Amino acid sequence: MRALAASNNPYGIIPPHLLNRVIQRGNEQQRRRALTTLNLDDGFRGHAARRQADTMHESHAPDDGDSPQRHIFDARHGMQLPGEEVRSEGESETGDREVNEAYEDLGATWRFFHEVFGRDSIDNAGMALLGTVHYGHEYQNAFWNGQQMVFGDGDGEIFLPFTRALDVVAHELAHGVTEIAVGLAYANQSGALNESVSDVFGVMTKQYAAQQTAEEADWLIGAELLAEGVQGRALRSMAEPGSAYDDPVLGRDPQPGHMDQYVETEEDNGGVHINSGIPNHAFYLIATALGGYSWERAGHVWYDTLLDERLTRGPLRV
Ligand SMILES: [Zn+2]
Repeated sequence: MRALAASNNPYGIIPPHLLNRVIQRGNEQQRRRALTTLNLDDGFRGHAARRQADTMHESHAPDDGDSPQRHIFDARHGMQLPGEEVRSEGESETGDREVNEAYEDLGATWRFFHEVFGRDSIDNAGMALLGTVHYGHEYQNAFWNGQQMVFGDGDGEIFLPFTRALDVVAHELAHGVTEIAVGLAYANQSGALNESVSDVFGVMTKQYAAQQTAEEADWLIGAELLAEGVQGRALRSMAEPGSAYDDPVLGRDPQPGHMDQYVETEEDNGGVHINSGIPNHAFYLIATALGGYSWERAGHVWYDTLLDERLTRGPLRV
């Protein structure tokens, strides 16, 4: 059976082509979960959810710029956003692993942008960081919807809960930064750049939290997300694009690492999660050539470029 579905959830960390592979190759249950995730992704930009999130923003005023303002919600396996608030800034840990991971990951991302670039949250004006965990039932994705982070639990067979991976959380928040800074059009080459910028800031956030040099780092994205038994190391490899996984269900990592192998495709908004391997690898090459910590020099070049008014959003979707 071949079921190709387009997703309206462009910022999900798991791209539609990967879910489509699971639908084609997975067992009955895996196919059902992947299909449910794709269908949810299609509908997630519902106006009701957006209005609710807007209301949340109004009630969480920006702070003085010295600390993040985090609010973690539990969807309790439903799809109402943001769900019930279970931990807010300064409150102690709860007994729920995913709640605590979301809180810590949002904090580590805020600290990275603040301490390295002097940026106060996504909008550089203290925007509250909202995260909802336990979204849907075995939902196989995590996404930023323009207002907040949303995390699925995965199914435990292919994907683990999406709060496990700090780089994925930072990747999603970086989409918010890119959106505000330049709004790189999310298709074809500008879309692949948009995706890559998120991986670059995602991987730097992970390296910064671990205080790893470019040489010490693994340069993997989403290494903590693949369940045991999946034949792969991560969702993507910036050091060796195309080598992150090769699995009977997920297929083979389709990323090129050089412009000579640029993939022309209609899928995935023109291959935004595929061709992002090319600028990802460029960042890896520059950061390792410069040596030391990636964020100290290469990271500043990327950040300054993102904010440079000469950078344009690229052509509109064709
Ligand atoms: Zn993304």
